[in-house]
Amino acid sequence: MKEKIYTIPINETFDKIAEDNSIGCPLCALYREVEINETETILGGAMMVPEIRQKTNVEGFCRTHYDMMFESGGKLALGLILESHLDTLKDDLKNSFSLMPAGSKQEKRISELQHSCYICSRVNATFEKMLENTVLLWQDEKEFREKFSKMPYFCLDHYKALIETAKRELPKKVFADFYEALSAIENGYLAKLGGDISWFCKKFDYRYENEPWYDSKDAIERSFKFLSGDLHKITKKPGQN
Ligand SMILES: [Zn+2]
Ligand SMILES: [Zn+2]
Repeated sequence: MKEKIYTIPINETFDKIAEDNSIGCPLCALYREVEINETETILGGAMMVPEIRQKTNVEGFCRTHYDMMFESGGKLALGLILESHLDTLKDDLKNSFSLMPAGSKQEKRISELQHSCYICSRVNATFEKMLENTVLLWQDEKEFREKFSKMPYFCLDHYKALIETAKRELPKKVFADFYEALSAIENGYLAKLGGDISWFCKKFDYRYENEPWYDSKDAIERSFKFLSGDLHKITKKPGQN
């Protein structure tokens, strides 16, 4: 049987969202937690550990995570990471951007760097296990199924990821039940969101000017979150710059 090491954070997040549906997709919330944790860890002590520094020198970071690190404070740590990353890059490129024919070592190195990010790799590895743990919890625990049914929605990316994971991890019969439970949530939300967006648009018509907004005021933001997820947010601690 597969180990479910993320049972606690998963349950905590699902509990929180069952209480407060405005948080949105539970998997986005879990992802953000892991992402913030990784961002803070690398800017904390981790960047001083030689094996980790070696990895960040090779993998670098994507633009999103450079921005997140920048936003989260810890400018000196980020400066030191960049100093040795740039130094490694200089060696890899043999001190020269010139003469870079297709297939050269330099070209290969830059292509690799375009597709790698130390934080993305760490977050994705943990998140993959969280997805597995989520579908296994659903399979094993009645209590978790009840929590699951109280989720407002799963963003499209995570809906797809859950289906793929469940298909791989669950026996056929259980998968069919999971699929049904998940689809019921998605169909309900899509109908509600569609209605809210329509009402939002109607409110611009003078004939509806004096009607209430109902749930439509934030329908645009909620559509973004449903369609494209809600990741990469940094929560600044007071006093940080
Ligand atoms: Zn999501
Ligand atoms: Zn990244």
